[in-house]
Amino acid sequence: MTFITRFAPSPTGPLHLGHAYSALLAHDMAMAEGGTFVLRIDDLDQSRSRVAWEEQICEDLHWLGITWPPPVRKQSECQRDYDRALDVLWRKGLLYQCSCSRRDIKDAQSAPQEGAPQFGPDGLIYPGTCRPQTPPSGPRPQNVTLRLDVSKALSGPDLQPHFSRRAGERLDFSSFMETGPHANTAIEQYEFTSEFILNQIGDFVVARRNMGASYHLAVVVDDQEQGVTHVIRGADLLEATIIQLLIGWLLDDELYQYWSQPVYHHHRLIRDDQGKRLAKRDDARAIAKYRAEGASPADIRQFVGLG
Ligand code: GLU
Repeated sequence: MTFITRFAPSPTGPLHLGHAYSALLAHDMAMAEGGTFVLRIDDLDQSRSRVAWEEQICEDLHWLGITWPPPVRKQSECQRDYDRALDVLWRKGLLYQCSCSRRDIKDAQSAPQEGAPQFGPDGLIYPGTCRPQTPPSGPRPQNVTLRLDVSKALSGPDLQPHFSRRAGERLDFSSFMETGPHANTAIEQYEFTSEFILNQIGDFVVARRNMGASYHLAVVVDDQEQGVTHVIRGADLLEATIIQLLIGWLLDDELYQYWSQPVYHHHRLIRDDQGKRLAKRDDARAIAKYRAEGASPADIRQFVGLG
């Protein structure tokens, strides 16, 4: 059986302990299965990505003993793939142009009848200001923000088969979830209702002005293009996984007839001494810092519970 895992860092800061855990786990799992580990550079956001970070990340990964086959896929070089996917969604009448700023969305959300501003896995939950009554026609507009009409997508033929009829309409989705240290896992079954998707995620962005594609769209396309069979990622991305499943299923029939849903494995997050999740800016946990202080790759494995 083909078994391909990936690590997809955004080169916007140093590799820290949390990333090292994700990369080592994905690498170890692929090696244990006689599979392949691939690297991808998630540099879609060119305003924040730096080649110097990319080089440092690759250096640190090699130092950790992680290897990958060339070529390394870089999102900044894959716009044509994203355009093909966006064209499919546009032709299905599922996308619309949005000209709202963050401020506009906040203002619309905090209007008294709407309650306080809410955040979902795609940021501020969109109140639907630009959503058209009838789907736009003509060619897909370029260099604009495009959102997916989630309500329309949910009632369409592509997503319906993925919802069970049990107790209302629910999206069934199972994932491996780490339940303890040392990568102990259990399969957990998640059920998300259409209502949850509509209200807690909302019309998410699939293309951004000045960026061509959104993170979620790009990741779905990249994982397919790289043949990834097992997505190993932090538990903080569980809801991002839902968005990406929706995109994958919507792309399934026309463009990606071979779209095969990867297995998702959400791993525990590496926390600091206070129990707080590590963030990019936690340079104190940067692998480069540990290296400078004389730590070995085995020490890093030990720190993240893979020793
Ligand atoms: N570039 C993303 C990150 O660093 C990728 C994570 C993912 O899609 O699993 O958070």
